[in-house]
Amino acid sequence: MKYSANSVWENSDEYDIAIVGAGHAGCEAALACARLGFRTLLFTISVDSIALMPCNPNIGGSSKGHLVREIDALGGEMGKVIDQTFIQSKMLNQSKGPAVHSLRAQADKANYTRTMRKVLENQENLEIRQMEVTDILTENSKITGVKTYSGTVYPCRAVVLCTGTYLKARCIYGDISSNTGPNGLQAANHLTDSLKALGIKMYRFKTGTPARIDKRSIDFDKMEEQKGDKVVVPFSFTTNPEDVQIDQVSCWLTYTNPKTHEIIKNNLDRSPLYSGKIEGTGPRYCPSIEDKVVKFSDKDRHQVFIEPEGLDTNEMYVGGMSSSLPEDVQYAMYRSVPGLEHAKIVRNAYAIEYDCIDARQLKSTLEFKNIEGLFSGGQFNGSSGYEEAAAQGLIAGINAARKLQGKEGIIIDRSQGYIGVLIDDLVTKESHEPYRMMTSRAEYRLLLRQDNADLRLTKLGHEIGLIDDARYKRLLEKEKLIADEIEREEHTNVGTAKEVQDLLERYHSTPLTSGISLGDLIRRPELSYDALAPIDKERKELPADVAEQVNINIKYEGYIKRQERQVEQFKKLEKKMIPESIDYNEIQSLRIEAKQKLSQIRPASIGQASRISGVSPADISVLLVYLESRR
Ligand SMILES: Cc1cc2nc3c(=O)[nH]c(=O)nc-3n(C[C@H](O)[C@H](O)[C@H](O)COP(=O)(O)OP(=O)(O)OC[C@H]3O[C@@H](n4cnc5c(N)ncnc54)[C@H](O)[C@@H]3O)c2cc1C
Repeated sequence: MKYSANSVWENSDEYDIAIVGAGHAGCEAALACARLGFRTLLFTISVDSIALMPCNPNIGGSSKGHLVREIDALGGEMGKVIDQTFIQSKMLNQSKGPAVHSLRAQADKANYTRTMRKVLENQENLEIRQMEVTDILTENSKITGVKTYSGTVYPCRAVVLCTGTYLKARCIYGDISSNTGPNGLQAANHLTDSLKALGIKMYRFKTGTPARIDKRSIDFDKMEEQKGDKVVVPFSFTTNPEDVQIDQVSCWLTYTNPKTHEIIKNNLDRSPLYSGKIEGTGPRYCPSIEDKVVKFSDKDRHQVFIEPEGLDTNEMYVGGMSSSLPEDVQYAMYRSVPGLEHAKIVRNAYAIEYDCIDARQLKSTLEFKNIEGLFSGGQFNGSSGYEEAAAQGLIAGINAARKLQGKEGIIIDRSQGYIGVLIDDLVTKESHEPYRMMTSRAEYRLLLRQDNADLRLTKLGHEIGLIDDARYKRLLEKEKLIADEIEREEHTNVGTAKEVQDLLERYHSTPLTSGISLGDLIRRPELSYDALAPIDKERKELPADVAEQVNINIKYEGYIKRQERQVEQFKKLEKKMIPESIDYNEIQSLRIEAKQKLSQIRPASIGQASRISGVSPADISVLLVYLESRR
């Protein structure tokens, strides 16, 4: 029997959940749903592009490393895959406090995709389908299935949309544009209309990527070599640190110069960004080189990081110079950079526009407010970055599964994790550009460090069912080791013995005149838990990650306690829930703007209401009085 797109054939294979998109969000969502026991079908435009890294060849970095650690602590996959496929690793910001220490690893992109695909293909309850989803099917605002480009209907009870940068994607450089997804892959041109028909508000966003240059055409002698760390720290709490001590490749640092900037300024009229050919809004915190030259015209140079895309390719990523300028200008500007004078471009730089949503249409569980059983994650929600995408995909997948389990959705709040900050910002705050995570967005960042993500979230991962008992038991043992050692340090005193005084002198620390606890010594800026080992006779050998926790919790005790008190205040407002049925127009003394914003976003709690732009503290007081009177 011949089938066409107009005819509808219902696939009788039974599925519970459909995941639309196998990018960083879709992979985490699909694995979470399948691991929680649901028959899951993962759609992608191209099976060869599973977990594709269409832009920078690295995972992690400032605040993004925190997200990867939190994904791992909850039972997600990204941390494990990058530990198996990285080619260089660095702990960033080591000269600063532990709150901003952040892991970043260069990935072998091809191997990352291959490894994640292997995990997906061997996951029980999970099937992969190369097919474009064109329609979301509903009855009475409740999910019933999806329909594909071939006209096939797949009935299911929940759907997670993770379409990334593919919806009505358009790639542009100079006057050249093509209706394709990243790397020339097919775009998804039909789903947007189906979503709009369901009343979903769409945005048009944009992002960009630099050219890829052939390694053989680069003169590295004109650049500064950037090596990885001598001792590599893994992303995943399940990875044995010994397994990641590998030979690493280098990255290279060079700079643009006034000649580069001149070339760009002289061709701004040919830039689709400045000629208005690009409609979508780009990320302020990931600017193109054109934007940098225009917006920071006082700077006579910008950093350019030359990063390998993998071990089995000569392609090098030109970090810091993403662009959509015409091809001839790209050659001129890249060849004006020291070391790139003879650059051979393998892939042009380009910008990509795509459809995504205003995420304020979502609950904090990442379920659509107006369509039951429809969830979404990743770039589709208006964020930017592999890590931001994976974090949302994991939560959206978990909550799609919990919906079918008849359980409450999981909401990680701003005091529990960067994942909580990310999702709360997306579903609460107005944003007209791709959202990128930064440490400055997290008000409780001293508590949300990348080193304690497991202590913050692995228990929750176990409750959800993604962390097995063995790993949970190891976490409880770690917690006990940390607590016992802190207790011991705080109650072990040392006197003014010569070896104690000698050690203090070695660290230029004030000599003792009487006994003191090791804890008090650790709190001295120039000392640390490791430094005191020689004078701490009873100390047993402890794992490095336990020693790190002991040191941080003792050294920053005062700051940590203060932030914990702030969190108590925060939680009080988060617990003040607002009835779903509330009619803000009824509240006389509420300002019009506040009525509009509250009615549009319908916050779940007073805490969330207080973070909506346009809702003032005075409005919150009015709301509190109103709720009190109703109660
Ligand atoms: C050119 C470019 C430049 C970028 N620059 C940056 C940057 O500078 N900084 C940064 O942080 N991030 C950047 N990114 C973004 C980064 O790639 C994304 O954040 C990340 O890949 C998002 O992951 P995701 O899972 O949401 O979507 P994606 O990785 O885009 O994956 C989407 C998946 O959905 C599938 N799909 C889409 N629609 C359908 C459909 N209808 N049916 C079936 N399958 C479908 C696709 O096949 C794909 O598998 C850039 C991306 C691109 C393309």
